[in-house]
Amino acid sequence: MELLTIGEFSRASRLSAKALRLYDELGLLRPVVVDPGNGYRRYAPGQLERARLVAWLRRVGMPLAEIRSVVELPAAEAADAVRDHWRRVEADTDAKRRLAADLVEYLSGKDTVMSAVLAVKYAVRTDRGLVRPANQDFAYAGEQLLAVADGFGERGDAASQAAVSALQQVGVGDLLNAMDDAMDDAAQLAGNAVRDMAGSGTTLTALLWSGSRLGLVHIGDSRAYLLRDEELFQITHDDTLVQSMVDEGKLTTAEAASHPDRALLSRALTGEASPGVEVRDGRIGDRYLLSSDGLHTVVDIDTVKEVLATEEPQQAVDRLVALANAAGGPDNISCAVAHLIPR
Ligand code: MN
Repeated sequence: MELLTIGEFSRASRLSAKALRLYDELGLLRPVVVDPGNGYRRYAPGQLERARLVAWLRRVGMPLAEIRSVVELPAAEAADAVRDHWRRVEADTDAKRRLAADLVEYLSGKDTVMSAVLAVKYAVRTDRGLVRPANQDFAYAGEQLLAVADGFGERGDAASQAAVSALQQVGVGDLLNAMDDAMDDAAQLAGNAVRDMAGSGTTLTALLWSGSRLGLVHIGDSRAYLLRDEELFQITHDDTLVQSMVDEGKLTTAEAASHPDRALLSRALTGEASPGVEVRDGRIGDRYLLSSDGLHTVVDIDTVKEVLATEEPQQAVDRLVALANAAGGPDNISCAVAHLIPR
């Protein structure tokens, strides 16, 4: 077999001699012979295919460490690895695009969204209701966080409180740096907070914000609603057995609302599952409501919308709690409201 000099191999593979020496050092592509006397590298023609693959992967932007394992894979698995790599690149690009758009608006001074011009008016209220012996809900509203948690089990009250305080530890600096990562961390923290509370757990629905970026954290059957352009949207999906039956077309929404097992959760924070996280864009004029099921199972949605649309946050939470109690107050009631307003 005729071996190729590094110059010949470089021309054939379209990789520079410098790159070839680097790949040798990194173990990506070793010459078959290195002359012990003068250090000249010699390559076999059969190595060209691997060299071209390395060059392609470099052009796609794959890190060298990843290329090292991909070139060892059978073709089909290597194809999967390239596909995964590209998916990550696109996700990363999306996140950067959103950050860049915010920055452009901020620097051009015409935005209506950054924290420089966006303020939040908020209020929160939680109530035992008229039937339950204790209040195991926990609710919070502050400059950066809105949260409702509905605890269950012997230590349900501790669980709901722990889940919300975990989110209070997520600093605004973290959010600015990397909202997506910070949201995952927040979800992890909240999950850890209720570990070792055997048999007890909590729902958790929370909004964290930094400028116009909102992080929505959710698990269980508490809900988040958004009133925007005079329309009310439920922006969380109930983690309940009846909701999954509705999703599968086995129940109508109306049947689900009166189903005897409607309170059975398919997912909750018990120390094992983590909440889902989602990053959303907030706009001036948005009004958010978080509620525990003690509110939204007894107060109809049109009334909720009317209250949210017409009242200031404090009046809204007061009225909503009063409405739930007027409907019998069968469960603990929590609600938190935030209005995004110009500063
Ligand atoms: Mn409840």
